[in-house]
Amino acid sequence: MKAVVFTLGCKVNEVESSSLMSALESMGFEVTDELCSADIYVLNTGAVTREAEKKSRQLVSRARRFNPSAPVYVCGCASQKDALQFAERGVRYVCGARNKEELIAAVAADFSLSCPSGLPFPKQVRTRAFVKIEDGCNNFCSYCVIPYLRGRVTSRPIDDILGEIARIECPEIVLTGINISAYGSDIGTDLTALVGALSGVDRRIRLGSLECNIIDVRFLSACAALKKFAPQFHLSLQSGSDAVLKAMNRHYTRAEYLEKCRLIYSFFPGAAITTDIIAGFCGETEEDFSQSLSVIDEAKFARVHAFAFSPREGTGAYSLKDIPAPIKSERLHALLNKGAEAESRFIFSALGGVRDVIFEDFDGSYTGGYTPEYIKVYVPGRQAGEGAVKILRPFRDGAEGQIV
Ligand code: SF4
Repeated sequence: MKAVVFTLGCKVNEVESSSLMSALESMGFEVTDELCSADIYVLNTGAVTREAEKKSRQLVSRARRFNPSAPVYVCGCASQKDALQFAERGVRYVCGARNKEELIAAVAADFSLSCPSGLPFPKQVRTRAFVKIEDGCNNFCSYCVIPYLRGRVTSRPIDDILGEIARIECPEIVLTGINISAYGSDIGTDLTALVGALSGVDRRIRLGSLECNIIDVRFLSACAALKKFAPQFHLSLQSGSDAVLKAMNRHYTRAEYLEKCRLIYSFFPGAAITTDIIAGFCGETEEDFSQSLSVIDEAKFARVHAFAFSPREGTGAYSLKDIPAPIKSERLHALLNKGAEAESRFIFSALGGVRDVIFEDFDGSYTGGYTPEYIKVYVPGRQAGEGAVKILRPFRDGAEGQIV
């Protein structure tokens, strides 16, 4: 029997889907992550924006078109937020963002199969393995539904994480979660202690999205002590204006954020600091927005992920006055343009340098791979494994390089 596990949403959903795939395989299903004709569909949904939630609903119809009689099982944030929107579409089973093992138990019961105890570790098949270290968030940013859907931080014990990492064969490991900066706050430890515990791991370690509060000398020293640390810091900003940051319930100022960037560069001079910025949050004035634009140069970002604000029901910002859509769209374009300039400036700054590249994919002409700073580098011909590469010139979405 064939099962589709289709995923929308964030990296955490992808990791969880990978565990669901492993569980279904252990029950005897042939599993794919592509939407195609199958005997059952598991749809792992997202709800971070209204658009993501709409796409999640549409997934049910898309699955039905492939096989109208196959049972559909729905999990993830959109179903946690509003299970009824899926139940009304006649799906077989709806669970939320938590307790996904219950979904596997439902499949096992429906097909009279024995159910694995707990969700297995995610199936890792590529050069980069995502290891989920925590779920949930305690921050309650005023625009975000995630803490209401996933709950407060729940962390895995350090030994459990080390055990999973020991079984992974990929050359790169990414520590991921919803708010990994708060890792350990529920079990009496923290992210610095976890990073410290990885000091003997001889593989590239990359960190998922971070919050400003985690950046200090102790944390950066632990990162620097790793054998192969990837100096890419995705340091969530959201706005360059203090007034907007306050309205967003973000607990830092622009000056504090920039100070954290300076501290990162003092430890890792060539570090890539990447970020998220929201365009057109409620009440954002032209002056506020100009602060978001100017911080891109000041922080010397390597990449900017920009989004237009979309109000989410149930959040603090939902009742605030939204600004007109054309203004949001104009600001989003300005952010995207400025972000693209920053990205090419960062790539130019790497030219002439030699970086360790882990090769991922061959397209018939070039093999692409990533540097520790997450610059995509293309080397002519078929390459495998990893190697030292000289960065020659900007190329496609990254740079062209030459093996040295
Ligand atoms: S830190 Fe803020 S934006 Fe990120 S998941 Fe938590 S509440 Fe949402």
